[in-house]
Amino acid sequence: MQTSDVVIIGAGAAGLMCAFVAARRGRRVLLLDHANKAGKKILMSGGGRCNFTNLYTEPANFLSGNPHFCKSALARYTQWDFIALVAKHGVPYHEKKLGQLFCDNKSSDILGMLLDECREAGVELRLETHIQQIERSESGYQLQTSAGAVTCQSLVIATGGLSIPTLGATGFGYQVARQFGHDVLPTRAGLVPFTLTDPQLKALCSELSGTSVEDCLVSCNGQSFRENILFTHRGLSGPAILQISSFWQPGDTVEINLLPHLDLLDWLTTQQRERPNSELKTLLAELFTKKMAGLLSEQWFVSKPVKQYVPTELEAIAERLSCWSLVPSGTEGYRTAEVTLGGVDTQEVSSKTMESRKSPGLYFIGEVLDVTGHLGGFNFQWAWASGFAAAQYV
Ligand code: FAD
Repeated sequence: MQTSDVVIIGAGAAGLMCAFVAARRGRRVLLLDHANKAGKKILMSGGGRCNFTNLYTEPANFLSGNPHFCKSALARYTQWDFIALVAKHGVPYHEKKLGQLFCDNKSSDILGMLLDECREAGVELRLETHIQQIERSESGYQLQTSAGAVTCQSLVIATGGLSIPTLGATGFGYQVARQFGHDVLPTRAGLVPFTLTDPQLKALCSELSGTSVEDCLVSCNGQSFRENILFTHRGLSGPAILQISSFWQPGDTVEINLLPHLDLLDWLTTQQRERPNSELKTLLAELFTKKMAGLLSEQWFVSKPVKQYVPTELEAIAERLSCWSLVPSGTEGYRTAEVTLGGVDTQEVSSKTMESRKSPGLYFIGEVLDVTGHLGGFNFQWAWASGFAAAQYV
């Protein structure tokens, strides 16, 4: 039987951070993962360049049943702390936009940095290890694993959410939470593309697949995001859509202003006065791609020389383009979602230590908790901050 001070299950972003910080405090740390590689999501993240934090991280960038829960950990390990770590390792990075920091080279720079820290701190990392059973023991927890039995004082659950099962995601953390008396709030896919089944809409998106529209304002349930949208074969994606998907529930209407930077009615009226013989589709091709202008003019409006529209028709065109309302039929689900909304109820976890209030010595960190960031490096910042917080107490 192996004995360790701390066992962490899940060698992803949160687990790796917690492991080396706890080991630097002198704790014997065993880090277990069922996958054949640590940090697979880190490698896949940010299109291979890992958007590892955001300069403007604030509690308002997170969704949770308890919006106050994330505040303490985020304040005690900030974006600046992680940036300092990245700088210490000489990892080159840049701000892409909106405070989003990406590696200049590859995500493996971030994973390599975390693994180096773990190695130097003396963390024992064991991959391809399956956890078969967890029980409370006199001094903490006893685990049965595919590599034998282990006992520990502190057990940290860092197994993440359900998104992208092919990268090793499981509902294991929720199972452990329930075993020890925790509530798990309903989970659903977040930061995920929308699918459409309305035949006309679906055909429009499919024909425009790969086309993006810069600077759209997408709104749902009182939330708005101003960013790109992208047409896909099955519906809509792009940063503004991914962001709003976390606020969307089945049946909700999504509104898209395709031209928030323009007073469209004013613009169309000016065109009517100055270029009366220009066709609508020719004019719209100055605002969208030619293909999109052509398709919208055919499917949504009747394209004719702009002088032939009466004022109410121009108003209707402006209204349709600045307030496109649609009800997505669903999302692409966990297969492509970046995150899982919901999870272990934070009401029963200490926001200072991440320790369970139901079972002393048991900790939850990272995405397994009901804390979900917006798109833009916030989810990793939560993984680093919550991992760091728990590491001070395990
Ligand atoms: P994870 O990183 O998911 O780690 C969980 C670990 O637990 C995994 O190693 C897994 O193998 C292991 N595990 C699961 N079940 C078991 C089990 N039963 N037994 C043992 N081990 C288990 N966020 C950003 O901030 N910026 C980005 O650029 C970004 N890009 C992303 C791109 C993609 C494609 C995806 C899917 C997500 C992206 N995210 C991004 C979100 C971010 O990756 C996660 O929020 C973050 O990894 C969560 O960290 P975690 O440690 O809680 O969980």
